[in-house]
Order: sequence, then C-alpha cells, then structure tokens
Amino acid sequence: MAHSRQVLIFNTGSSSLKFAVVDPGSGEASLSGIADSLGGPEPALEWKIRDNEEQIQLSTGANHGDAIRVLVEEILAGLPELHGQLVAVGHRVVHGGEEFADSALIDSQVIEAIEKCAHLAPLHNPAALAGIRAAKQAFPELPQVAVFDTAFHQTLPQHAFLYALPYQLYREHKIRRYGMHGTSHKFVSERAAALLQRPLSKTNTITAHLGNGASITAVKGGVSVDTSMGMTPLEGLVMGSRCGDIDPGVLVHLGDALEYSPEALNQVLNRESGLLGISELSNDCRELEQAATDGHRGALLALEIFCYRLAKYVAAYTLPLRRVHGLVFTGGIGENSSWIRARTMHWLGAISYELDSQQNEQMRYGAEGLISRAGTPPALVIPTNEEWVIARDAARLVEGRGT
Ligand code: ADP
Repeated sequence: MAHSRQVLIFNTGSSSLKFAVVDPGSGEASLSGIADSLGGPEPALEWKIRDNEEQIQLSTGANHGDAIRVLVEEILAGLPELHGQLVAVGHRVVHGGEEFADSALIDSQVIEAIEKCAHLAPLHNPAALAGIRAAKQAFPELPQVAVFDTAFHQTLPQHAFLYALPYQLYREHKIRRYGMHGTSHKFVSERAAALLQRPLSKTNTITAHLGNGASITAVKGGVSVDTSMGMTPLEGLVMGSRCGDIDPGVLVHLGDALEYSPEALNQVLNRESGLLGISELSNDCRELEQAATDGHRGALLALEIFCYRLAKYVAAYTLPLRRVHGLVFTGGIGENSSWIRARTMHWLGAISYELDSQQNEQMRYGAEGLISRAGTPPALVIPTNEEWVIARDAARLVEGRGT
C-alpha cells in the first residue's frame, strides 16, 4: 500500500475540542470528532470513522488534555495504521495579530507570540494554547503547526485596515481591523479561480462566508484586500447572534443611559443580537426560513436585513477589485440556503447580477457551481474546507523544515 501522509487537526474552543485526521493531498477526513462540554458535569466525546459514528461519556470535569488522552488511547490506538501516518498536528488559532502573516511551526517563540495576541481574542487564543500544550504532551514526536484565521488578511492595505480613531490607538495598542475566517476565504477564492478556469493571480473574487459567524472578503489575484470583520469578529455582516456593523454611539448610549456594564454589552452584542435578536425566535437560518414561510414576521425581517447588509458589502467590494470575476457563497448558510442567496441576488440586481433559480435550488449539501444566469456576473456556491487548508499548511511547513 502506498505510504500516505495524514495531519491531525485540532480546533479548540473554551469548552470544546474538534479534531480530524485529514489527508493534505485529497482533503479527505478519515476520522473526525468533537469533545464537548469540557470542564462541565457531563462532557462527551463523539467521533466518526468514515461512516461509523460512536460516542462515549468523559469523566466529570474532563479538560482538553483528558479529551486528547482518550483520543490517543481509545481511538487512535485502535487505528495503528492511521496513527503511523501522522506527520504533523495542525492547530486552528483565531488571532495572530500582526505577528503572523502565514502559518507557523510551533516553537517557544511562536507560543509567546500567540500569548502576546491573546488580548485581541481573550476567549479564543487561551483555548488554542491549552490545545497546543495538551497536544505537545500527547504527541511529543510530531511537529505542531499553528494556522491563523487572521493571517490571510495581513495583506490588507492601511486604508482598509485602519479605523478612523486617533492613530496613537493603533501605534500603541494595535487597535485596527484584522479580519477572520481567513482559511475559508483563501480556500474558496482559490477554488473559484479553478472553477472559472482562470489563473489565481488574475482572478478577483468576493467571498461570502456565511455560517453562525459571517464575513465577506475582497480577494484580488489571490490576495485579501478588504474584509468585513474587524479587530474582533463583531464587525461587518449580520450574524446568527452578533450584530455586525453598528453606530458606536449606540454603545455609549447603552452604557450611559441604560447602564449596561461592559459584560452586559458584550453579551447583548455577541449573543443576543443578529438573526436571533431581530427575529426574537432563533439564530438558526433553517429554522427562520421555515418560520418565515409560515408567516412569522420577525423571521422574515431578520432574513431580509441579513441579505440587504450582505448585498451592500458585495457592492462596496467591487471598488477595490474594479473587475469582479466571481461572487462566492460558502459556509453553512452560503452552501445551503437558496433563500438567502436568492434575496441577496435580488438586491444585487442593481449591479447586474441575475439569479438562475433552477441552479440556485440545486446547490446544497456539498454541491458546487454557478447560480447566476449565463452572460451575467458570475455567482457561485463553493463548499468550504478549512480543515484541508490547515492540513495542507501543516504538511507544507513540515516538509519545509526537511523532515
Ligand atoms: P459555524 O459558523 O458554527 O461553523 P455553519 O457554517 O455550520 O456554522 O452554519 C450554520 C448555519 O447554516 C445555521 O444558521 C444553519 O441554519 C445554516 N444551514 C445549514 N443547513 C441549511 C439549510 N439547508 N438551509 C438553510 N440554512 C442552513
């Protein structure tokens, strides 16, 4: 049997750990799973090997390290062939600040730099560091690679990444726009160039990653030139429970006149706004579509605001690109919701986009292709694969160091 390389991928949240074993050549995941409710009374670990799904309960209070130990001792131990093919561990890290414009082989300096960026992502980076430390202990023989959500956007020009705040806040505190979802925007922009049969360096795309979190990026010749998320994932599009763009004066008013504390502001902006806040029903697009079909006015309004904001960004991002070769929809909503795509394309009629309704209805559950009419600006659906980008980057960096 041919020797195949595999990368073990970790995506660590504060109370969860997603993992997968991915072939960097094909993107195929032979094992994937999630440990959930870590640190709580009933943590559990679920995993899937090809089409077989299994689940076990973890002991009360089990942490990331415990979950990784179970992964090694109970799952990988039963798959010696797969275990033997691992060449690296790849970690998703949300914030690389200005420290990282590319993925990095993890050593003590890289860990220090990730710690240095932790104030920019106080919930996410410490979780990623916990995952890195636990993985180093469990796999001391494997090189570890950090792949940053922000790295792809380090090419943004100053006029796109600076806020119109006193410059000193950037100089001294690094307050600026960084952008997120970089692995996804990179993946689908490259895939779009391939589907459009154009060289990447001559292809301009607008990529809309629409999941629970949502962001949109202008990609010029493979390079990110503007993106909707800012210093934190709150800026930009309407999201499941985040508000996206808002007049900052509203925050001052909420604090002053309504006595919201910083914690309460954080809660309302991140967890109680967006589709959930407007609809007063749900943050889940599928549920809202069903409710809107049944006549729920809040659901209908939430979906409409989502699409209108999205279309405004698409129109704005034609500016840095001048010529747009493809508009890409991806993420759980972008890949599956013909409703969101149709309404967004309706607004985009103002700049000549036209929907092919039949094609639009067919694009879901992993399908890929055009949803625009022939002869009109191309709009496509492309399923994202962030894990494949992480696996590819990890394999590239490990090869680069000559192992
Ligand atoms: P996350 O950002 O958590 O990774 P996903 O990319 O999985 O999120 O996207 C989750 C969103 O995708 C949810 O709002 C969900 O309702 C939506 N979604 C998934 N499938 C469909 C579908 N068939 N139709 C409409 N929306 C869908």
